[in-house]
Formats: sequence, C-alpha cells, structure tokens
Amino acid sequence: MTESGDRIVVVTGGSRGIGRAICAALSAPGTTVYFNYNSNLDAALATAREISAGGGKACYHQVDVASESAVSDYLGTVLKEAGRIDVLVNNAGITRDGLLVRMKETDWDAVMDVNLKGTFNCMKVAAKAMMKQRYGRIINISSVVGVTGNPGQANYVASKAGIIGLTKAVARELASRNITVNAVAPGYIDTDMTGDLGDTAKAAMIGQIPMGRIGTPEEIAGVVAFLASAAADYITGQVIHVSGGMYM
Ligand code: NAP
Repeated sequence: MTESGDRIVVVTGGSRGIGRAICAALSAPGTTVYFNYNSNLDAALATAREISAGGGKACYHQVDVASESAVSDYLGTVLKEAGRIDVLVNNAGITRDGLLVRMKETDWDAVMDVNLKGTFNCMKVAAKAMMKQRYGRIINISSVVGVTGNPGQANYVASKAGIIGLTKAVARELASRNITVNAVAPGYIDTDMTGDLGDTAKAAMIGQIPMGRIGTPEEIAGVVAFLASAAADYITGQVIHVSGGMYM
C-alpha cells in the first residue's frame, strides 16, 4: 500500500481484449491501475473509462514493452509517483504466424521481443521494488499453446513456453520475499487477436475445445484477479489453464 493507502497495479497491453478486462477486474476503490498501450490511444481511453467505472484510478501511458529503456523509464515514473508496485500483470502480446520454413527472422524477433523480452523487462524493474516491499504479485499471460504446441506459430509458442519457464525460475528466486509469480494460460479467447480467423478455422478451433465454445476476456480476468488476491497468497510458480479443457 502507498502512504495514501492505494493498491498499485500495473497491467501491460491494457488497451484492448484480455488486458482491458484485467484492468476492469482489478479496478476497485483504493486501487490505482497503471496500464500501457502500444499504438491505440482511443482503445486506451475506453479502458480508462472502465477502470473509473469500477471505482479505481486509471493512469495510462504509451510504452513499447519490447524496449528495455522505455519500460525502465515507465516503471521508474510509476515508482516515483506511487512509491510501489503491488501487482504486475504481463499481458501485452502479439502474433506473427507462419510455418517455420517460411518464417522471417523479423517475425521471430518481433514476437520474442514483445511477448518474452517484454515480460522480462517489466518483471526485472518491478521485482526490485517488490523485494524492498517484501510483497508482490506477478501474473504472466502465457497460452495453452505454450504447453501443447501449435503448427504455424513456432515463434508465438516458443515465446509462451518461455514465459512459463521464466515464471517458474523467478517464482523460485522471489518466493522467500513474499512475492508470488504465476502464469495464466488462456485457450481460445474472443479478442482482436483471434478475430481475423475465418469461419472454417473458427469452427475447427471450437471443435478442439471440450466445453465447445470460445472463452471471454472476463473469464481470464477473473483468474488473474484471484491470483492477485489474498485468497492466492500461498500459490506460486503455477500455470493455471483457462481454456475450456483444451489442455488437461
Ligand atoms: P489483443 O486484443 O491483440 O491486445 C493486445 C494488447 O497488447 C493491446 O493492448 C496492445 O496495445 C498491446 N500490445 C501489443 N504490442 C505491444 C507492445 N509492443 N508494447 C505494449 N503493448 C503492446 O490481444 P489479446 O487477445 O487480448 O491477448 C492478450 C494476451 O493474451 C497476449 O499475451 C496473448 O498472447 C494472450 N493470449 C490470447 C489468447 C486469445 O485467444 N486471444 C489466447 C492465449 C493467450 P495496442 O492496443 O496499442 O495495440
């Protein structure tokens, strides 16, 4: 808590989709939700309105999480303003799909830089503050495909599997300081990221989901809110699958 008693939450990629739902779920009176976007200011403004409607205070910034210096400046500003970071949710992510043999190096690098290095960049700065506080909750958004694999997504799957390894390594490093680090692995969720799939691909995807339907961003956000809550104080280093049973 800050001197003013606020809980300070940081969510990356909060402007759309799952990130927006997480910002809304974590908003409450006495909570300040810092979130960043990459290029979509209008969407960020809509998220800020949702946070305000939940009773929390919204602070948004344009930050490319792939840039170590941009993240360091951004979280430095958060720490200067708020004095602490209680919860960090690494949600920002992109896809650049293609079969391995045709995958461009730039597509490999872009996905690894945003998804995996972005998570590392944010955790590194936040962990230092959390260690001093002797409290912190870090939740990283992976994906079911980081465990199962998926053809046409070698870069994305590698980044999401990397997030699981990163989560477990850092969970072991920080556990004694009362900092938990967990991952949430969503299945197929209805957002812009999956919106481009054609009807045939969508039907094939739904066919692989035992529960027979696409998930909602709110169903991911609810689990993130649980992991950030006192009810999850004794959970660390775990991967929680929220995928309608795609992985058992
Ligand atoms: P989305 O709708 O495409 O939203 C992506 C968010 O990430 C946006 O807020 C975007 O900001 C932000 N972002 C992208 N590149 C960024 C960068 N370089 N720096 C900072 N922010 C950046 O995606 P989503 O479906 O909500 O996915 C959210 C997370 O869940 C991702 O990590 C994704 O891999 C994971 N996930 C999604 C699904 C799914 O089915 N949707 C399944 C498993 C895992 P702008 O608005 O400014 O572009």
